Amino acid sequence: MSKYQALLTRLGDVVSLREAMAVLGYDQQTQMPAGAAEGRARQLSTLARMEHEIFTDDATKHLIDDAENEVDDVYESDAVSLLRVVKQDYEEATKFPASFVEEWAKETTLAHETWVHARANKDFKAFESTLERIMVLAHKSAEFLGYKEHPYDALLGRFERGMTTAEVDRIFEGHRPRLVDLISRISQKPQVDDSPLHHHFEQDKQREFAMNVVQRFGFDTHRGVQAVSVHPFCTSFGVNDVRITTRFEDNFLNPALFGMMHEAGHAMYEQGVAQHLDGTMLSGGTSLGVHESQSRMWENVVGRSKGFWSWALPMLKETFPQLADVSLDAFYKAINKVERSFIRVEADEATYNLHIILRFGIERDLLGGKVAVKDLPKVWNERFEASFGITPPHDGLGVLQDVHWSSGLVGYFPTYALGNLLSVQYYNTAVAQHPSLPDEIANGEFGTLLGWLHDNIHAHGRKFTTAELTKRVTGGEIESDSYIAYLENKLGEVYGL
Ligand code: ZN
Repeated sequence: MSKYQALLTRLGDVVSLREAMAVLGYDQQTQMPAGAAEGRARQLSTLARMEHEIFTDDATKHLIDDAENEVDDVYESDAVSLLRVVKQDYEEATKFPASFVEEWAKETTLAHETWVHARANKDFKAFESTLERIMVLAHKSAEFLGYKEHPYDALLGRFERGMTTAEVDRIFEGHRPRLVDLISRISQKPQVDDSPLHHHFEQDKQREFAMNVVQRFGFDTHRGVQAVSVHPFCTSFGVNDVRITTRFEDNFLNPALFGMMHEAGHAMYEQGVAQHLDGTMLSGGTSLGVHESQSRMWENVVGRSKGFWSWALPMLKETFPQLADVSLDAFYKAINKVERSFIRVEADEATYNLHIILRFGIERDLLGGKVAVKDLPKVWNERFEASFGITPPHDGLGVLQDVHWSSGLVGYFPTYALGNLLSVQYYNTAVAQHPSLPDEIANGEFGTLLGWLHDNIHAHGRKFTTAELTKRVTGGEIESDSYIAYLENKLGEVYGL
């Protein structure tokens, strides 16, 4: 057996352990009884330790070094890409002692249950000491990883390899004033009527309709399943087993319908990775930002377009006769309503990035020591007021709303906003190469778009960084002009700006 083959076999064990941890994590959020939290923490910490030990063993390093002498020098070949990516993963992972990895897994698993209760009771105090411990661990983690300018660079880099705090700040501040201006101009116009979305909608019918839509998009239910959870997500146990979850509301169509499109966008990315990369460390998405570009493209650029609803609205009316009298124009306006609101996951396309820019600033300042955990509710509410002109009535609608920090995910939030920007950049490129795309979408045909995404983005798995992939796909860099132009165009029509 060649050294490269031996490396693949060894890394295959690491991938399997990670997939097993993902199964336990999925179960935890969809099925597990609350009383099982400690047992689950123990199981996950054992698997995390085993995974860490196998991956960071010197034997892995020797195999990487030896295998490098066996492979060609084609930058994008499977072998060269795998070695490049695994070397970086290895360097990152070997910076953490096994005891720290175990502590991290245990703490964040227990924190999840604490957060669920604190959020339900609108009680930040109940979560405060847990969050303090998580932030201490996050800071330690940044020190282990190392950074040049800001500890946040180290954490951000785990989700967006190579990206810096300064770069994110530049991109965010580059479009923040234009978002604020757009939202202000919209607020001076009469508000659109979104009452059609607030009828009573039976949950089983919501599920059936949304599943039909995402299967039509191309979500493969032979290799994917949908379940229910408090906080919707997508997780993958390989190219051929991808799970999505949904949150339902009886009297509001958006969370399940657009949430399902969103998670299916993630799922189709995972399902679209080349089969021969399954079980290797190149399986999965390039980065969270690119992942989010896929979910947001299906949810918003496609799912909230007039063309799409010219095809889908008649079927929605068949499912829900209470919508019989709603015109396409009225429905299109309703689903594109812009409103300053408290909850990120329910935010519209115009205000969404402002929610992220707020969280980015807070995380950066927590890590930088400029904000203390105990002051978070106050800081959150003050900064929220400054950006949105409204103050959350309680912490459940404020600082406690997101699952991320309880899971130890610090540095993750910026990827959502980067995903929005990339969704439009990639879509515009696809349309430039296939000008018939908008007409196809208006006919309920999504094969050309999904095929283009598979070929240009999904199939590569983790081979390229976000910057490399974006350069290959669009010829340029991440920028906000395309996204702002897209919003101006769409919301100009909706609000008559
Ligand atoms: Zn997402």
